[in-house]
Amino acid sequence: MRRPLIAGNWKMHKNIREASEYIRELNELPWDDSVEVAVIPPFTCLFAFREARSRSRIRYGAQNMFWAREGAFTGEISPLMLLDLGCEYVLIGHSERRQIMGESDRMINDKLRLALETGLFPILCVGETLEERENGNAKEVVGEQVRQGLQGVIPHPGVVIAYEPVWAIGTGVNATASDAQEMIHFVRDIAKKEWGSQVSDQLRILYGGSVKPANIGEFMSQDDIDGALVGGASLDPKVFADIINFRST
Ligand code: PEP
Repeated sequence: MRRPLIAGNWKMHKNIREASEYIRELNELPWDDSVEVAVIPPFTCLFAFREARSRSRIRYGAQNMFWAREGAFTGEISPLMLLDLGCEYVLIGHSERRQIMGESDRMINDKLRLALETGLFPILCVGETLEERENGNAKEVVGEQVRQGLQGVIPHPGVVIAYEPVWAIGTGVNATASDAQEMIHFVRDIAKKEWGSQVSDQLRILYGGSVKPANIGEFMSQDDIDGALVGGASLDPKVFADIINFRST
């Protein structure tokens, strides 16, 4: 039985005061404890999560990390620094980083391997562009991102994969639940071929792309979808709580 994971990616939003208020508000709202909840704020807000840790049910992580433990890498963040801040998760290869910052599958694989080595749970983000989907290449593209992302990685059930079609991120246009299920099933099959069914059956694979309270129930009713990576709709704690409580929304 895979425990659902609902993770909120704040991207480049909120300051420290807003983060502290959000942590208090979300913790005061009722949510279903059978669901794991994580927030992925900007680096500058991570200390607010660490400070609140003893009175908070929210797990947290970072939006990116570098592929080395330390060194002359101005402007980068080491996984060891994230662990120091109490992070459990780290997003690896979000499409905004692939597209805007030019991250390659090779860089993503280096980051993923170091995340696991140091004790962070990576959330590997994969997804096709609209053009790739329209050309009928969606599975080929996503399959390659998964294979390259996991290359040389020792099978680990703590790896999380987020299937996020690029055309659905921040656009208000979500994939249909059955299209997301089909792709996520395909991703689990790749993990099965690489890592065997014992591990692939335990892997949590999320859907991301314009998730909101009105559509989360449909995604979560699919066999292979184990949760969601939520951008815009995670910024308001009440809306995010409605997504977390997908069983009653
Ligand atoms: C994301 O940033 O990963 C995302 C899925 O964003 P949104 O929910 O806003 O589409």
